[in-house]
Amino acid sequence: MSRTLFVTTALPYANGSFHIGHIMEYIQADIWVRAMRMAGHTVHFVGADDTHGAPIMLKAEAEGITPQALVARYGAERPQYLNGFHIEFDHWHSTDSPENVELSQDIYRKLRAAGLTETRQVEQFFDPVKGMFLADRYILGECPKCHAKDQYGDSCEVCGAVYAPTDLIDPYSTLTGARPVLKSSEHFFFKLSDPRCVEYLQGWTTGENAQGNKRLQPEMLAKTREWLGHGDGTQANLGDWDISRDAPYFGIDIPDAPGKYFYVWLDAPIGYLASLKAYCDKKGMDFDALLDPNGSTEQVHFIGKDIVYFHALFWPAMLKFAGRKTPDQVNVHGFITVSGEKMSKSRGTGISPLRYLDIGMNPEWLRYYIAAKLNARVEDLDFNPDDFIARVNSDLVGKYINIASRAANFISKYFDGALHYGADQAILQAQWAGAAQTVRADLEAREFGRAIREIMAHADRINQAFDAAQPWLIAKGLATADETQRLALQDICSNALAGFKALSVMLAPILPTLARRVASELFGLDQDFVWTDAGVLPTRINPFKHLMQRVEPAMLDALFEPPPEPPAPAVVPGGEPVADTISIDDFSKVDLRVARIITCAHVDGSTKLLRLTLDVGEGRHRNVFSGIKSAFEPEQLVGRLTVMVANLAPRKMKFGISEGMVLAASHADATVDAGIYLLEPTSGAQPGMRIH
Ligand SMILES: [Zn+2]
Repeated sequence: MSRTLFVTTALPYANGSFHIGHIMEYIQADIWVRAMRMAGHTVHFVGADDTHGAPIMLKAEAEGITPQALVARYGAERPQYLNGFHIEFDHWHSTDSPENVELSQDIYRKLRAAGLTETRQVEQFFDPVKGMFLADRYILGECPKCHAKDQYGDSCEVCGAVYAPTDLIDPYSTLTGARPVLKSSEHFFFKLSDPRCVEYLQGWTTGENAQGNKRLQPEMLAKTREWLGHGDGTQANLGDWDISRDAPYFGIDIPDAPGKYFYVWLDAPIGYLASLKAYCDKKGMDFDALLDPNGSTEQVHFIGKDIVYFHALFWPAMLKFAGRKTPDQVNVHGFITVSGEKMSKSRGTGISPLRYLDIGMNPEWLRYYIAAKLNARVEDLDFNPDDFIARVNSDLVGKYINIASRAANFISKYFDGALHYGADQAILQAQWAGAAQTVRADLEAREFGRAIREIMAHADRINQAFDAAQPWLIAKGLATADETQRLALQDICSNALAGFKALSVMLAPILPTLARRVASELFGLDQDFVWTDAGVLPTRINPFKHLMQRVEPAMLDALFEPPPEPPAPAVVPGGEPVADTISIDDFSKVDLRVARIITCAHVDGSTKLLRLTLDVGEGRHRNVFSGIKSAFEPEQLVGRLTVMVANLAPRKMKFGISEGMVLAASHADATVDAGIYLLEPTSGAQPGMRIH
């Protein structure tokens, strides 16, 4: 029976480019969607950028642009990643859209009418200079337990203590350096602890969807029971949810509450609906009918294990009590690691998706590798370069592609492309139709690794049968062979090619471009494979064309190397030629460290200098004077990271002793005003890290 599905992936936060973790999730969902479509189901597959909240507002401010411009910049890069890896969303939208404003406000009004919202006074740290309430991550101070400096407002990275921001000793705002003050404000809450919500969620999390499948994986069900109780009298442990933020905030207005905005996590999942609505409007489809709470559309979300709380509790409860359709399945995956190391942008162990494409690696290799390692459980997936090479070269090319390249040449050379089956064709058809049915069920159950193992086991059997029949010996004596021998050769190769076609159908969700070429170029079909094609024996082939390269190990080296530097021109834009070559030993004499700017102030009597207090992870702070006053206001720099020369001899200056030097770029000719640019490491760097 044909089903209608509404499928989403988690919305990426629009303050950065996609990383390999995003691509993994999209590949997982895209394979699933393609497998469902091949079965004749209707799938609406949408994504969107998650755009609201303080981090985007502050980043845009630091760059001197609007949040909309920042979001648009990242939005503009999305297609090259998605197209590059053959990820085919029907529509990509933004949470900063009229559809999302309308839906978010409507859902809020319904929750309010249901008596599930309330307001409370909340006392919170406030930056008096910036005029803004501070989330915990914008507050630093001394750990109340171990007295480590510069610890965040919620927990200490040194001793692991967890505390409230008000427990910090000498707290300061990372935005301005100012000491935050406690201030009270009215906040809006969604009453998740209401017995109606708890009861509904206990049923939703443990129940089955219309397909008779659990809505959550067993690991996730266990997790939600920690919050909801175990149905054995254990108390639910659900807090109400603070859904409002005060101005200044980049977000959606809360109706009838001037100066109050929805917390970004309220409107982000509603962005799924907003994207679908925009898609429906574009296609002339009825959005409300599609998501009728009593209708048959299935709503399926793919997400990472870090956002389960939002998707298994808030999201179904919000939808339910706003009178809307609730999710039918939430599919949770683990993280991707590289050679066993958790991905970290700062350490550079991540794989850059664009670099992967730039160096000419085939996107379908990555799709195949990720599929081979994914299952339906919430497990981390490790990208291991040697394993990657082995699976692509030995399995994908060595076993699967090899079948066609061996068998097709005999058919083209001796039989003009015609296939012939000696055995009972009905048995052969049933065999491949059944095999494809098993793989289809594995893919639907997200047991992609198991599907690949089955496909490769079939490839092994086809190759073994081909080898055992030794068709090359028959071909050698074909000039003197009788008709029986000719038919035997044709039969051996036809069987192998029928198997190759069936395997191509099974691999089509994973390798869509390759499967399309196999269908059209080799088998002369004018449409993409569907599942039932696996049991249809081909009668003719066109001459075999090369289908897929092997991975060169050097490509993996290139993938993990930093990109090559362009050669230095004789005269650089900075106004002076590059200095004489030095040895690595010369360079390593300069001890460059990541430093956090703790305070920054004007220097009385100096037109050029700012006085910086720097933390270089030494347990004490350094005083440094820097001639960057023309480019920065002191409050712009507080809390930011930069790079300093840490082993420069202290210098006595007119205004005091300078214990080092911060690094900044400018034109060599001081009379050219090209600006001053302070160096800043990418996020995640910590004070004291050495620059190599
Ligand atoms: Zn501590």
